[in-house]
Amino acid sequence: MAYDNNSFGARQMVDVSAMGLKCAGCGAAITELPFQPTSDRPVYCRDCNRNRKQSDRPAMGGADRGAPRPMVDVAAMGLKCASCGADVTELPFQPSSDRPVYCRDCNRNRRQGRSF
Ligand SMILES: [Zn+2]
Ligand SMILES: [Zn+2]
Repeated sequence: MAYDNNSFGARQMVDVSAMGLKCAGCGAAITELPFQPTSDRPVYCRDCNRNRKQSDRPAMGGADRGAPRPMVDVAAMGLKCASCGADVTELPFQPSSDRPVYCRDCNRNRRQGRSF
């Protein structure tokens, strides 16, 4: 197959219109693919491919790397750590008034070992 580099450097599409392929997602006819299809793998039309790629990622943008949990700003509530008495300004959950809250250090200590 000829292979010309002049076209935008975009990825090369394989013309599969003669193969009569159908999208495994929506059933649309597929005329080209970014790769040579093999008969034992389903192929998807451009739209379905894009949807599938997007759904690989978590639906919510932004919250990634390390701490996916949003912190709740509780600085206005004047909460104190039930263990060491430090001011608690943010929590990984919405606090309820009948449960003790802990500062970050104490939370970590409590989680690491139940030494007390
Ligand atoms: Zn499709
Ligand atoms: Zn504490």
